[in-house]
Amino acid sequence: MTSLGKIAAVLAEGKRFLLMTHKDPDGDGLGSMLALGKSLSDAGKEVSLLAQDPIHPPMNLLKGADEIVNMPDVNGDFDAAVALDCAEKSRLGEFENHLGAYRLVINIDHHETNESFGDLNLIEPASSSTGELVFRLLEEAGLPMGADVAENIFAAIQADTGSFRYSNTTAEALRIGATLIERGADPWEISRKLMDSYSLPRLRLLGMTLSTIECHHEGSIAIMILSQEMFQKAGAQQSDSERFVDYPRFILGVELGVLIRETGENGCKFSLRSNSWLNVARLASRFGGGGHARAAGFTSQGSLEDAKNDFLKETGRFLDETCG
Ligand code: 5GP
Ligand code: MN
Repeated sequence: MTSLGKIAAVLAEGKRFLLMTHKDPDGDGLGSMLALGKSLSDAGKEVSLLAQDPIHPPMNLLKGADEIVNMPDVNGDFDAAVALDCAEKSRLGEFENHLGAYRLVINIDHHETNESFGDLNLIEPASSSTGELVFRLLEEAGLPMGADVAENIFAAIQADTGSFRYSNTTAEALRIGATLIERGADPWEISRKLMDSYSLPRLRLLGMTLSTIECHHEGSIAIMILSQEMFQKAGAQQSDSERFVDYPRFILGVELGVLIRETGENGCKFSLRSNSWLNVARLASRFGGGGHARAAGFTSQGSLEDAKNDFLKETGRFLDETCG
């Protein structure tokens, strides 16, 4: 039996499930978890939903987001603990240490770099999103897919494909999107809610960071920064900078777009995006991070200026090697 078939059978037959996603949860992780959770509970099963970090706007508007807790009764007698969209055990945060206690750990993800830490693993890098995998599992298991489930899967796919624009926008992703609309997902409502609902501090923060853009390496790299001071001045928080990283790669001739965010304790978070040929997951792995070919990231210690200079030096070498 395929791992999809085995996992679908566990979902169909089990009675109690613990679902979780990665730290700093995003639209795909949360949408996937909420969709699977709602479908299982509509089928009469008991479900606990776990997220390590608070759910920030606009993600708190996802249907059912208010049912997510920080630490449910993790010692409960679950038929399976299911990790969604989580490439590394360590991205489960402190919950990583509890995994060994479960009868069965299921790992559902689309990151090429996934560590396959589950007893059952469904890892499909060709899938646009974890949401797409949840869709296929529900169909295979014959589990309910009402309007709320459809909306959350749609939101998950939309988040990871940049509203059906990025290179992971496959025919299959669009076919599933069409089916989700037929099941009650409303693309305009979901887009307005999750993509277009900017707070004023978020828009102010965007203005500040756009003015920091600089280009390097003969115009092929564009870097944008966000300091703690900018967050304070704008009255914004980290989650308000979601998707800003798209802007630097919009510049004509740029292959690599970078956003560096100062995270407070003398640390920085790098987000990398490429337009057509550069594998940023490989680049990020040089700095201890990972991700996908067109979207990746890592964290680093030290001041923003030092981190930027170190990054540019190493990336220059990487580009020279990659381009031969
Ligand atoms: P973002 O730039 O939106 O934070 O992340 C883009 C992609 O890179 C995501 O798919 C995420 O899985 C991956 N990513 C971001 N930060 C890290 C990190 O620190 N470590 C690893 N392994 N992957 C990361
Ligand atoms: Mn994802």
